Amino acid sequence: MGEMADELDDDHDDDDDARAMGLAIDEARRAVAHGDVPIGAVVVRDGAVIAARHNERQLNGDPTAHAEVLALRDAAAVIGHWRLDDCTLVVTLEPCVMCAGAVVSGRVGRLVFGATDPKAGAVGSLYDIPADRRLNHRPPVTGGVRADECGALLRSFFADRRSSSTGRGDSVPARKDARADEWDGLESR
Ligand code: ZN
Repeated sequence: MGEMADELDDDHDDDDDARAMGLAIDEARRAVAHGDVPIGAVVVRDGAVIAARHNERQLNGDPTAHAEVLALRDAAAVIGHWRLDDCTLVVTLEPCVMCAGAVVSGRVGRLVFGATDPKAGAVGSLYDIPADRRLNHRPPVTGGVRADECGALLRSFFADRRSSSTGRGDSVPARKDARADEWDGLESR
């Protein structure tokens, strides 16, 4: 973490974003151990990572336990207040409506995400909440950072789940299951 603090700074560049996304990807992998969709998020402040969480919806039976919400809560606890305008949220997948809303509510200074989510994304796909001029906070957004790696993690998770759920080595799942588990967006997230 000390080395991280030296290398990430306020004058972010592509390398800083890529490095922070690497940590978010590490977090995302941890979700698989408890059957959660692999999505990870970190919060960076003054060049230091102050929060790192992954999706825990299945683990805790909590519909709001997305990586972004958990990471923002941790970050606020570290800082001691809710306003996160000097923080950057880095997440492996385009945030959903709830998480994009949390970014606005928390006045998060900047948002970086990896893969897009064509089925549920609220940062350009279905909605563009951080850019909505009717809201009182519009943080700058950088999307597509290490998107291939972030997307591959998701595709692999759903492919594994599909093959284990069909059983009997049947590689062609029922049409309904295929649709639910196919990754070209996270309708089952
Ligand atoms: Zn979310």
